[in-house]
Parts: sequence; structure tokens; C-alpha cells
Amino acid sequence: MKVLKFGGSSLKPLQAFIECCNITRQQCADETSVTVVSALGGVTNRLQTALNNALTGENTIVELESITEQHQQRLEQLHKTLDNFEHQACQQTLVEQLNRLEQLLTGVQLVKDASLSTRCRILAMGERLSSILFYYAAKAIDSRDITLLDSANLIKTISGVQPSDYLEASFDEDACHRLIKPLSKTEQPTHYIAAGFVSSNEEGEITLLGRNGSDLSAAIYAAALSADELQIWSDVEGIYNADPNRVSRAQVIEQLSYQEAMELSFFGAKVLHPKTIAPIASYRIPTRIKNTFKPDDAGTLITSSSNPREFPLAGITMLDDLAMLTLSGVDLKGHAGLAERVFQCISREGVSIILISQSSSEYAISFCVNQSDVSRAKRALNREFALEMKHHQVDPVDVRESLSSITVVGDHMKQTHGIAAKLFSALAAANVNIVAIAQDSSERSISAVIRQAKSKVALNKTYEYFFQCPRVISAVLYGVGTIGDELLSQIKQQQNWLLQQRIDLRVIAIANSKQLLWHSDGISLDNWRLELDNASTPSSIEQLQSLITQERPLNPVFIDCTSNDQLAECYPALFEQGLHIVAANKKANTLSHNYYLTLREKAQQSLKQFAYETNVGAGLPVIANIQNQVRSGDSLLSFDGILSGSLSYIMGKLDDGLSFSQAVLEAKQKGFTEPDPRDDLSGMDVARKLLIIAREFGATQELTDIEIEPLISDELNDAKTIDDFLQRLPEMDTVFEEKIKQAKQQQKVLRLAGVINDQGKMAVQLLAVDASHPLYSIRDGENAFSFTTARYHPVPLVIRGYGAGADVTAAGVFGDILKTVVA
Ligand code: ADP
Ligand code: ASP
Ligand code: MG
Repeated sequence: MKVLKFGGSSLKPLQAFIECCNITRQQCADETSVTVVSALGGVTNRLQTALNNALTGENTIVELESITEQHQQRLEQLHKTLDNFEHQACQQTLVEQLNRLEQLLTGVQLVKDASLSTRCRILAMGERLSSILFYYAAKAIDSRDITLLDSANLIKTISGVQPSDYLEASFDEDACHRLIKPLSKTEQPTHYIAAGFVSSNEEGEITLLGRNGSDLSAAIYAAALSADELQIWSDVEGIYNADPNRVSRAQVIEQLSYQEAMELSFFGAKVLHPKTIAPIASYRIPTRIKNTFKPDDAGTLITSSSNPREFPLAGITMLDDLAMLTLSGVDLKGHAGLAERVFQCISREGVSIILISQSSSEYAISFCVNQSDVSRAKRALNREFALEMKHHQVDPVDVRESLSSITVVGDHMKQTHGIAAKLFSALAAANVNIVAIAQDSSERSISAVIRQAKSKVALNKTYEYFFQCPRVISAVLYGVGTIGDELLSQIKQQQNWLLQQRIDLRVIAIANSKQLLWHSDGISLDNWRLELDNASTPSSIEQLQSLITQERPLNPVFIDCTSNDQLAECYPALFEQGLHIVAANKKANTLSHNYYLTLREKAQQSLKQFAYETNVGAGLPVIANIQNQVRSGDSLLSFDGILSGSLSYIMGKLDDGLSFSQAVLEAKQKGFTEPDPRDDLSGMDVARKLLIIAREFGATQELTDIEIEPLISDELNDAKTIDDFLQRLPEMDTVFEEKIKQAKQQQKVLRLAGVINDQGKMAVQLLAVDASHPLYSIRDGENAFSFTTARYHPVPLVIRGYGAGADVTAAGVFGDILKTVVA
């Protein structure tokens, strides 16, 4: 015997309604089965509105008409679609119930009051109506005997006087089993159809099992009948490891234990009513969650134990609209029975406690309730502790509203260390403060209470951390010159490979100096330039910031491939907004030393990375090396290096006998220099790199403290245009001829070096070096960095290799971007 339950979402569209009837026939062709139906989607909400209106004496015609129309329409649709549909009989029964509903509502409206049982009777009407429609539809389709059960007479609840004893009544297991069991004794396969949600108490008054309670009705039938399987049919493929509406990458869980399912549903997985599990777990009924719209999918199977799985968690859930109440006071410490008093007084009020967290000092007990229960809970505490409050032994109750709880659930968490730490890291990475923490004693779930406003980002970040679904990097690229362009083609080439390594690197924004192209799910890198040219959003940082606030991309990384000063000044604000920064732009690190410190402080406060490996030596691991040296306690004694690829090339050509002007022109033609070669020849670029190196070692100097020996005269530097400058370049040839001649006489070559002497003084100078010097052989675009440190001395640590070129620089930026991915 099987029990099947169809939810409102499955019954609302006509096709799905008929599909539900077909499913019952196919699943249980030759056996007895029970089908439990919810109200057609949305009807219970409408009944609730009608009831609320009636209670205030308002008209309920609108709701009543719409409910009537929805069911009449379904009646006609079934009549048209199904042969042998008993239209008249169905219509008569429906109309009887609809009239009954109208009478009930009119009565309530007249007296502006209703007993709890009358309220339940009205709210249960959706299930009554849908079960009638389903019964007649099944009669037309199914060849088995069809019987419409009256759930109100079969599902009994425990009597009480609280609203919750009616609206969210607890079922009486013994009575239910006694009444339901005889249904299994059928002479031939029978198809029972039953309304969900509705029940009655010992006095025979109509009660309800709580919103979403049809799942529980089905579980009660399944347990009482010791069914071979319970199937819950809904509009989702099964239970997902996070709410699929909030986490787009959530996956269906193949198999769960009863306990896991219980925790998941209790803490927010709406697909199952939280009380559903207890009866099916007691009677070990295998339960499947299936999708009416994809009946062939396996769905989720819930059984006694969970199979080993790839991740320690089963799922992550979120419960919104919570409030936290805190009772605190010095007098609470060591006060036996205090917690009991707190929870008893709350329970007497009929308020359910969702989560409890007690400070280890015992000065405070905090617990969460549904937002709607907060005033009742507060009142109960004030009453219970009135005396203690009067004598200031207990502080006034503190209430925090608009909270959510995020809960990680899994049987296998117990054997895995670091789950809590991972949850907290994820929340920290999402910039979310934790208000309270609670762990279930079976170690099957850990919850953190957070502000509701942050719930989506918290859930997504936590999901990313735990399920290693491709770890996401949302790249925001500013600057599409040679390096930016090359970076995008490298990313395009590597995206699939990275995805195989579980890294989802998507470029969500590309900006030049004017426009910004934005696409939250990732820009296709085939045609970005055209799209960027056509983009209408201005590329201002304010615009970017508002997009980030609106769209909240996962793990956003700002990549600065410009050489723009103003952009470099925006980094602190970007850190604060939760972006990592990868800078090829050297400006930020060479503004004032104060700013240099602020940047690092902001990055640290926001737990964001600031990576700028390509500031010095393009793709060579210079910065990373220095940082390791400094961290391990090494200190700089002196430094010299060739820090510019273009100058390395030019100087090498001078060794070969080319004149200065020929060397510069050749370097320019080969693309080794900046568009205006003066940017290289002025020595400023070298000075910036030198300052960045020195600051890594703790120097506090400014750019202006560096002595720069320019390679060209001031007059030449002031030439009006690049062409003008290039034409006049031979003016420098004789100067260099002389310098080279002198160097040659001493078997030396000329090198433009960045130097930090043993006093920490920095200079950019033209050095003449002999064959024994580390910089002697550095030419043709190569860079070299020679560090004499407390550890590396007298033989210095030398790093050398190509330190210029779009490909190596872009690769360096790429490496920095990947550093931001979650470990
Ligand atoms: P029914 O009408 O079938 O009873 P519900 O609306 O009560 O369906 O429950 C199904 C809905 O639960 C899904 O459409 C989905 O939006 C929501 N949901 C929340 N969390 C989860 C989860 N972890 N897995 C599946 N669905 C979930
Ligand atoms: N119709 C009820 C509700 O909407 C019960 C259910 O659908 O499970 O809450
Ligand atoms: Mg439901």
C-alpha cells in the first residue's frame, strides 16, 4: 500500500491536476492506496483573507467569488477533458460546500466573531473542495474502487483551549491509528481520496494540522496503514540542499535520513511540513519527495540512515521573520531551574521556541520565536519575572527583530571537524555579523542567527563554502588596454578548465574610461568589445557601487588594469563594499604613505585581499617573495635591480653598439615601450616600482624622496608631441656615446637601475657595471631584482626573468585574481 500526497502547487494547473490522477493510477494500478490532496494553490490564503475580512465585519464577496470561480472553472475543465466525468454529481457536491462556506462567512461577518473551530472549518474548505474534484476526476480515470474519505473523522487531534490547539493541533496517534487502520482491509484494490490539513478533536470540533499541514496528514495515514511508501508530490524535483528559490546552484539531495529531513524542514525547507517526519520515522516508512511536473525524476528518498556523500552536509536552510528575546541579569548565574521557568512560561503562552542560545557565563538566555509571537513571548517573560525585574535582579527583556537563522544540517557533521568554523568564515566573508549561535546536541545541525537583510548573501556564501559548488569569482575589470584585453582572452581560454577545478570565474563587468558593461551571470567573452562599445551605463565608480549593492554578486573582485590616479583613490570604498582588489595599476601603492597604510587597514578590516603582484616585475614573483621574507623576519640591507623591461631592452641595444636614438626607436617599434617612450625614459616608472619594493620592506618614504637621474634632457622631455620628441631624440646620442665609451674602457656596460642603499636611500641611476655585477647580463627586456638581506648576504637573492609584456603581466593579474578564491 502506498500513500501519495499532492500539494497545492501540483493541483493548481489543470494539466498537473490530471497528471496527479494519472500518477496515482500508474503508481498503484493493482493495490490499495490513499491520495491526500491539499487545496488548489492559493485557496487557503484566500480563505484566510476572507475570514479576516469577515471577522472585522467587512465584505467577503471578492474572495468568495474568486474561490467559487476557480473551482467551477476546474469542474468545467475536467468535464471537457475527461470522458465519463460525472459532471452533475460533482457540481452538486461542490455547490453544497460552496454554499456552506458562504453561510459560514456570512455568519462570522454578522457577529464579527468566530469560534476557533469555525475558523478551522472555513480554512479547511479548500481541501474539502479539491478532494471532491479529485474524487470525481479519479472516478473517471481509475478502474479501482474509489472512496472519498472524511479526514475530519479519521485524523484526531488532542483537545485544548489555546488557538494552537485548533489551528496547529497535535495529532492523537492512538486514535488516528485505531480509525485509519481498518482501511487496509479491502477486498479489492481501492483508491481512497482524502483531504489534507483537516482534522477534529475529541469533542468532534474541526481542527487543523497547521499551514502546510497536508504533508502531515499524509504521514499520519502512511504510519497508521504501515504503508510501503509515502510519496509527497510537489513542484520541485525533491529536497534541495538549499532553497532553490534563493540559491540558483542548489542541488537535489538523493537520499536523507529522517533526522536530517526533520532538521531541514524545521529550519526552513518548506517543501516538507516539519512535523511530517515524526510519524514516518517511528514506523520507518520510506518517503519520496517527487515532482509532479517531472514524474520520472528520482526525487529525494528519506529513510532511516543517510548514505555516505561527497560533502559532510546534507543541506543548508534559512528561516526568516524571527525575533530574538534575551533575558539577562547578574542574578541569573547558577540559578537552578531558571531556564525551565523561561521555557515553561513561553510554552504556556502557546508560543514555540525555534532556537535557544545561552551565554557560557549564564548571565543571559536568548531564544528565537517567530516574529508574530514576539509580543506574547515578551508579555509572558515580564509576567513570570515581574518580581526579579522589580528588584533589578533581571534586566528588562531585550528584543531584536527582523532576524533569520541559517542552519547547516547533516548526519555526517559529527565526524567532521571545523564545520562551525567554516560556517563562521563563510558568514564573515559575506560581511554578515552573527547575532547568536546554537548547536543541536546530536551535532546534526548548527544554526547562526543573523539580520534578515543579509539572509540571501549569507545563504549563498555559506552554500559556496560547504558544497564547493564551483567557487565563484565575479570579476569586475576596469581598463581594456593591452593588459586588460590580454587578460580577457586568457580568462576566456581558461574558463572551462577552471570550472573543472571547481572555480567559476565569471567576468560580470568590463569598463573602459567611458562605459561599463555589466552582466550579473557573466559576460560572454566572445563579443565583449562590441557590447562594451554599445553599453549605455557610465563607468563611474558610483555606478559600479550601486550595481554591486543591487545585484550582490558572489565574491566580487575589482581588477584595475588602468593607470588612473582617481581610480586608485577609490580602493578603500571598494574594500568596504566587500570587493577584493587586484591592481596592475601602480598608483595606489605610490600615493602618500598614509594612504598606503589606510589601504591595508581597510582591506584587513573588510577581510578582503589586496593583490598587486604585477606592480613590480610583471608576472615575476617579486612581491610574494618579499612578503614571505618579511613575514619570516628577514630585513633588507640593500637592493639594486633593473625594474623596467623597456629600459632593459634599450640598454642592451646600447651594448650592441646601437645609438641611443636607434635603440629607443627599435624598442618602440617592437612594442616594448609605453606609447610615449618618455614615460619610460623619465625614470618615473622605475621610481614607482622601487618605492613599492621599499614599502614592502617597511620604508615610509614618499615618491618625492627618490632621486631620479633622467636619461633625457629636460628640453627633450618637454617636446610638444611624441613625433617631435622622436625626431629630436638623436640630440641625446652624443651624450650616450661618451658614457658608453668610458664604460667600455673599464669593461663595463650601462644599466638604468633602481637602487636602495644601506641607509635606505632610494635612487634611479645610470650605473656602469662590470661582468661580476648581477645586473651585467640583464638585457633584452629581462628584469632583475637583487636583494641583499639579513639572510641573503653577502650573496644576494636574485630574481630574474621577463618583466614586461602583455602576456606575462596579464598572467600575473590572473594569478592574483585566483588568490581571492575561497580556500
Ligand atoms: P506544495 O504546494 O506541494 O505543498 P510547498 O510550496 O509547500 O509545496 O513546498 C514546495 C516549495 O518549497 C518549493 O517550491 C520551494 O520553493 C520551497 N523550498 C524551500 N526550501 C526548499 C528545499 N530545501 N528544497 C526544495 N524546496 C524548497
Ligand atoms: N492548504 C494548506 C495550506 O496552504 C495546507 C497544505 O497545503 O498543506 O497551508
Ligand atoms: Mg506544502
